This record gives sequence, C-alpha cells and structure tokens, in this order.
Amino acid sequence: MGSNAIRCDVCPRGCALPPGAHGACRARANVDGAIRPTGYGRLTAIAIDPVEKKPLARWRPGSTVLSLGGYGCNLRCPWCQNAGISQVGELDVAWREVRPNMLVALAEDARCRDSRMVGVAYTYNEPLVCWEYVRDAGELVHGAGFANVLVSAGCVSERVVQEVAPLIDAANIDLKAFSDKTYRALGGELSCVQRTIELLAATPTCHLEVTTLVVPGVNDSEDEMRQLAAWLASVDPGIVLHVTRFHPAWRKRDVGPTPVRHVYDLADVARGHLAHVYTGNC
Ligand code: SF4
Ligand code: SF4
Repeated sequence: MGSNAIRCDVCPRGCALPPGAHGACRARANVDGAIRPTGYGRLTAIAIDPVEKKPLARWRPGSTVLSLGGYGCNLRCPWCQNAGISQVGELDVAWREVRPNMLVALAEDARCRDSRMVGVAYTYNEPLVCWEYVRDAGELVHGAGFANVLVSAGCVSERVVQEVAPLIDAANIDLKAFSDKTYRALGGELSCVQRTIELLAATPTCHLEVTTLVVPGVNDSEDEMRQLAAWLASVDPGIVLHVTRFHPAWRKRDVGPTPVRHVYDLADVARGHLAHVYTGNC
C-alpha cells in the first residue's frame, strides 16, 4: 500500500486506494483523502416491480416496490444479468442524481400511479457498495411511511450490515454457493455473506429471504445444496429459500440453462431442511 493510499473497509476486498482512485466496485473512491461513495444517489434504473420479482415470496404478496439501481458491484459473477450497470463506472453508463429527498417525492408519485406500491427497493446492482445512500434514503423513505427492501449479494462488512439492518423491512440476499472457493473466484468470501444472513435473520423488523442461482458445473451438486440448506436452517428454519434456474448471460455462455428437473430436485433436497423453498426462472 502506497503512503498516500487509504484502505476501504466496506467489503472483504479491502481496496487500498491512492488519491483519486476508484475501488474494484467502481462506486467508491479516494476523494480528498477519504473513501467516498462516488456512486451515491446516481441512479441508472428506476422501475415499479412486483415484490415477487425481487424475489420475495412471503412478504406483502401482490404489492409492488419502486426499484432503484445504481452502478457498481464488488463481485464479478460471470453470469451477471445486470453487468451493464454492475460492472461499469460513472463514465460508462448513463445515470441521474436522485438525492434522498427527491427519492421520497418519486415514491409518492409512484404511489399515486400504483395503489399497490408499498416501498422502495435498492436492487439491480450491489446497493451496499454505496450503503450510505441506502441509510440516508432509507430513513426518509421510512419517515414518509414507505417500506425499504434490500436486494444484495450481502458480501460486505458487519459494520455496514449493522448500519442499514434496522431500516430494512424485507431483504433478499444471494447465497451464491456453499463453497469459499467459488466465492473467492467471484471476488467475495462465503463467511462474510453468512455473517450478513445471520445479522439480518437476527433483526426482528427484517423479513429475510435468500436466493441461490443454480449454475451448472459451479454449485449444482445435491451435496452442496444439502449443506447450504442445513446451514440456513441452523440460522433459522423459517428462512425462505429461492432455488433459481441459470440462463446463459454476460461471460457465462459455455453451458446451457440449468435443466428444470434438476432445479426441482435441488429444491426437494433443500426442503429436507427448510419449510419454505421456492423455485424460480423455470
Ligand atoms: S466496497 Fe468497493 S472500494 Fe470498498 S473494498 Fe469493496 S470493492 Fe473496494
Ligand atoms: S453480485 Fe449480483 S450484481 Fe454483482 S456481479 Fe454478481 S450477479 Fe451481478
């Protein structure tokens, strides 16, 4: 680490950033001698989605949320379906600034257009690389009577999770594999995501669901699913798990979609440990 570099502690990558440099997530940088969330409030996507699309199966079914995406992510999943925003920085994508107070006005407008709209979702890219926005917007969103929904890979420090957890009403966290080797290949750490799941599961005001995308040849063994589901059940057997089907995307095109039968079989394996298991993308 150079003498002028500062280390970011938001995720396990721990980027050491010289003045002016962005981290691996492209959404934080060393600005004027401090690590700043340069992606703060810079939105690349705003849409009203059904909560089932997040996915949330057992939280306010039939409702919708105003879904926000920014840019950047600290992981690099070759199959990312949102690589156009997750794997780029501020110069490579169109964004517009929406400060937290402006977001509340957008939410109120969305509610006027859609009476089923119950809250705001931080989603599409990795929202927690700019966790300060989730915190600041989340406080105002709550103050205006809306809910906060977090959709995240959860590979961030415990401090970050503790900052935002009290503001989150529902979360869906990706548990991409039950192998640290797989996580390391994506730029993350399994234990870090496990800690995030434990912390959110222990937050009484947060409804928690988890998603595992089954990628052929990566995480599709029955043994790995058994271990994953057993660990989730050890945290809380009431945790909802979505077992979802991979489709070729971005840089992962060497295999076809996960066979539907195999997704169903792995869901049955998970049901050996968990009461609420859903399949998706089938
Ligand atoms: S949040 Fe971004 S800048 Fe910070 S350590 Fe992770 S990848 Fe690096
Ligand atoms: S964590 Fe999500 S947004 Fe980030 S690269 Fe992986 S799939 Fe894409």
